[in-house]
Amino acid sequence: MNTIFFIILFIMGTLFGSFLTLATYRIPLNKDITHEHSFCPNCNHKLEFMDLIPVLSYLCLGGKCRYCKKKISPRYITIELLTGLCFIGIAYALEMSVYMINAVQIIEYAIAILYLIFLFLIAGIDAENKKIDKRVLIYGITVACINIIYQYIYNIQNGYKYNLNRVIIYLFLTIILILVDLSTIKKTNKYDYMFDLLILTIIMCLFTYEITTIMSIACCILIIGFIVIINKLFNKNKKRKKNRTKFPIAFYLVTSNIIMFIISYLYMTYVF
Ligand SMILES: [Zn+2]
Repeated sequence: MNTIFFIILFIMGTLFGSFLTLATYRIPLNKDITHEHSFCPNCNHKLEFMDLIPVLSYLCLGGKCRYCKKKISPRYITIELLTGLCFIGIAYALEMSVYMINAVQIIEYAIAILYLIFLFLIAGIDAENKKIDKRVLIYGITVACINIIYQYIYNIQNGYKYNLNRVIIYLFLTIILILVDLSTIKKTNKYDYMFDLLILTIIMCLFTYEITTIMSIACCILIIGFIVIINKLFNKNKKRKKNRTKFPIAFYLVTSNIIMFIISYLYMTYVF
């Protein structure tokens, strides 16, 4: 029975993953993400129900579009599988099972999924466009506020202390950053990646706390450093491009955040 429960969660996860790949493609283009029908970006053919089943459609069609036979990026199936696994992983971490499920678990599960969607959207859009989308950041702040309200109520009701000063400082900082960011955009009409990266880091702090966030930043710097070294080693003799390639830092930061969160979870559960 429990296996069926986890299989259902996995299927739900892959459906979400499928929606996320669509959203990361459409949000930067300012396209509608809920009403418009899916179509192949190459031949523009409308996709039928059979083409939209996560994971299975990709496998059955051999990773190609049914209509124009153009290869579909393996990114789609990877993201669908990853979200499926995350849906199971979070349920496992919250010790959910069909036999024992309570309101607290359901709320925490929902908040974790909302945060996961935020991370995947930030990472997906950044990997494609080297950009952090403002609307996704505002979504992240909203989810962070929901989480704060929940944590506050939960801790007070159960007689625990809740450090409100910490979250107020973070929220205050975020508001200031957004205002400064918006005014600089208005003045110079230039997009500032670093500002948005800072807001992303604050949202991470609100969800995964300072230690995990600091470890995520360290891990992200290591990954980027590693890529830079590899690039230098392999492109030694090639002429260097004039415009330096920009790194999707947010993508690496999000990846590091997920890795660090899993590591700290495993550490807390099995070492302590
Ligand atoms: Zn096609």
